[in-house]
Amino acid sequence: MNKERASDREPVSGEELPVEGRVVEQRDAVVFRYGEVYRSPEWKKLDEIDRAQLLLVLEGVKPGTVIDGDYTNFKKVIEQTGLATHRNTDPYSLRPVYEVSTPKRLAEYYRDVVAAPTKLPRGEFHRINGRFLGYPPCCTEEYIRPEKNLEARNRVSPSRFLSNVDYEAKQMIDRGEGYPAELDYCPPSFTPCSATCENAIPLLRQWKRVLEAADPEAARGMCLFNWSGEPYRSVHREELSHVADERIARWRERFLRKSVGVEEGGDS
Ligand SMILES: [Zn+2]
Repeated sequence: MNKERASDREPVSGEELPVEGRVVEQRDAVVFRYGEVYRSPEWKKLDEIDRAQLLLVLEGVKPGTVIDGDYTNFKKVIEQTGLATHRNTDPYSLRPVYEVSTPKRLAEYYRDVVAAPTKLPRGEFHRINGRFLGYPPCCTEEYIRPEKNLEARNRVSPSRFLSNVDYEAKQMIDRGEGYPAELDYCPPSFTPCSATCENAIPLLRQWKRVLEAADPEAARGMCLFNWSGEPYRSVHREELSHVADERIARWRERFLRKSVGVEEGGDS
């Protein structure tokens, strides 16, 4: 009875999705590998940002993700897919954190971690994580050792860490140019090295297309999350005014954690 109905879905305005062998065009609609899952009640109960990140992994456009939050629905969703999870917090933690990927990729990730020296140098840990999460190496390197526009960044924001991407986006917004819309699709743990990074922007564009077509609500959640922080907030006051204060506060708190460089899930 749960037959896939291609006509149910929004066509992606004739744009070809650059997803190799994963997303297939059928008639005019795009059919996703896990379209059925995205329509399930368990899926809809997940936090939009978790949904967005899981979806990108499910559709094969992101190698892995880290999820913390809802477990009952999360477990039910995972059972419907071929994904593997690894809990990286102690069994009694009230806020468990899971690494999620294909069984093969998750095993590779743990092999990398296990093969590393007992005390992993900070940079190396971020490189392993960055690869697992699918972030471009240039962005990981800037994250490990901030270099770009550092003097100007310190001048603009002497007491609080300001990432280069946020610094550049602020310059663009202040000049009245607007900033690249792809940046609205950055997952919470991703800090591109630049607002125009030639590796990050095409990747984010791909994620944007997949999310908008497969789960517009999750796509919207990712945008709202990014809009809740500076300097993007000032551009999106209108959209944010329709969202409950409590949700914005939650996103904002998460966005601030991101901008000061605290890893996702590292505080449980
Ligand atoms: Zn980069």
